[in-house]
Amino acid sequence: MPPRAGAAGPKSAAQAAIAPAKSPRIDPSSFPEYSMESSVLMSTVPFESTDQAMPETCRSWTDAEGFIFDAVGTLIRPVPSVAEAYASAASRQGAHISVDEARARFQVYFASDAIHADRGHLSTDEQTERRRWRTIVEGVLPDVADPARAFEELWEHFGNPGSWRCFSDVGPALRGLEAMGVRVCVGSNFDARLRGVIAGLPELKHFGDDLVISSEVGFKKPHRSFFEKACAHLGLEPRQVVCVGDDLENDVTGAVQAGLSAVLVSRSGPGHEAHPWVSSLAALVQGRYCRA
Ligand SMILES: [Mg+2]
Repeated sequence: MPPRAGAAGPKSAAQAAIAPAKSPRIDPSSFPEYSMESSVLMSTVPFESTDQAMPETCRSWTDAEGFIFDAVGTLIRPVPSVAEAYASAASRQGAHISVDEARARFQVYFASDAIHADRGHLSTDEQTERRRWRTIVEGVLPDVADPARAFEELWEHFGNPGSWRCFSDVGPALRGLEAMGVRVCVGSNFDARLRGVIAGLPELKHFGDDLVISSEVGFKKPHRSFFEKACAHLGLEPRQVVCVGDDLENDVTGAVQAGLSAVLVSRSGPGHEAHPWVSSLAALVQGRYCRA
């Protein structure tokens, strides 16, 4: 499926070079005139921005031709939380685990995952992901009578769009980027279940086939092959693309090493001292990000 081509928008002469660090400093008082794209959008696209203040260190990347968005933690979040879902699965079998304990165990087993397909580090596929999640569930819920049942219930739960919500800034930001004519796709370390999740969320269902999923690519972020596949999906060179995500290693470091620009999403507080970051996706459309 070819990437969705957006409507052509006004472009600068330097549109092929995404080099935010070299962009001129923005005077906040003159920001609406900083670029044609931004001034048009700011007058026509409503935002629910939580990033009202614009530090003097903000710079622009309006030359970007495409964006790759991470899914979990960037576009969507589980409701109820992962820990609550695991605790409920245990409870249905008469095993009781507190949400805090479930959260602590999940963090351990999720981080210690070491199962990879035969092609080496960071390689994966659907079966590998299913085995990986079975191991995580068994680690987090060791006391349930029927571990296979718990796994199947949780596997189905997190493949259900009703178990996920979009962050409030997602819809307006994606509509704004689409209006700018940039190309956008989702790039996630999920598995094929993500297709059903995205299709079931009104803010995201227009992505259609513009999903790049690690289990289908064969490699997980931060592997270079994942980003090469995502850029190819967009029909763009890595230097034309910005990766946006909440994981420093997977979404930022990996993308930069593959030749993309990258932005850390940090909604809960300051981002990272060495990398561009935003507290709201609205900042992407407004053509600015923050350096600590
Ligand atoms: Mg994430």
